[in-house]
Amino acid sequence: MSVRGGIDLGGTKIQAAVVDSAGGLLGDARGPTPLTGGPPDVIAAMAAVLRDAAAAAGVDAGKLAGVGVGSPGDVDADAGTVSNVVNLSGWDDGVPVGDQLGSALGVSVVLGNDVQVATEAEAALGAGRDYSSMLGVFWGTGVGGGIVLDGRSWVGRGAAGEIGHVVVRRGGARCPCGRRGCMEAYAGRAAMEARARRLGAQGRRTALFQIMDERGRDRLTSGVWARAIEQGDMLAEELVERAVRALGAAIGSAVNLLDVEAVIVGGGFALRFGDPIVERIRTAMMRHVFADERPPDVRLATLGDLGGAIGGALRVPLKSS
Ligand SMILES: [Zn+2]
Repeated sequence: MSVRGGIDLGGTKIQAAVVDSAGGLLGDARGPTPLTGGPPDVIAAMAAVLRDAAAAAGVDAGKLAGVGVGSPGDVDADAGTVSNVVNLSGWDDGVPVGDQLGSALGVSVVLGNDVQVATEAEAALGAGRDYSSMLGVFWGTGVGGGIVLDGRSWVGRGAAGEIGHVVVRRGGARCPCGRRGCMEAYAGRAAMEARARRLGAQGRRTALFQIMDERGRDRLTSGVWARAIEQGDMLAEELVERAVRALGAAIGSAVNLLDVEAVIVGGGFALRFGDPIVERIRTAMMRHVFADERPPDVRLATLGDLGGAIGGALRVPLKSS
């Protein structure tokens, strides 16, 4: 069977997709990531969401050619294990996701890094399909990146693509990774929220937290930021502009090093703001691009938030007939 399944394991939600041999979407599903319990609960939830996607596609999950998982944390594809998932408890040591999910579903399971598989999906089927080299930038709680060169993923020794930790200011803001001056320390939604809270506590006026409360949220989601900016909130606009400049500096530096044909921008924050924010990032990037007579195209990701699940499915090898 040439129908494949894919799962995107996120810190708040699990998404699954079932695709045909060309990568066309046949069915998808989503569910919350269990935040209590441990890895067995998360793996059971992944299996349930994948079964829902298979049902939506009208196929039996056990008959899929395989299932590919895009996972956060450290992924050991050969061992089939995932470790050091920051947002989930009990994932410090290697969790045998491949074996456990495989026995739950009765199919073979392959693992990949979440951002890398999302980049591969955009390269194969999305905004990057007309290019042989591209940089994927995923703007969310943090900022992840993936690299495709000459049509192939470049993962280095496993840790390539960490665009969020490209330094945009030496000795600058403290990054969630513990280092200073990383792009993510300015552009990650977590860092933006931390700064908004600090400035708010110092007396800067902002509607961000009132909107958050009205929406029953406990954090500044992309939707909260968007609403504040629609209302003309000066602090929100200032922090988004600061993030855009950091993204532009990091992406421009990466382009100077790699000279890719395209930069594909995705992730929850970018998808919420759409093409206008991508144009702002492009303008910010251009200040730093050395070969500015022939800059890369900068495009919004087109697979939306299903890119990770579709990319997982594309990792499943198809048997040649
Ligand atoms: Zn960092």
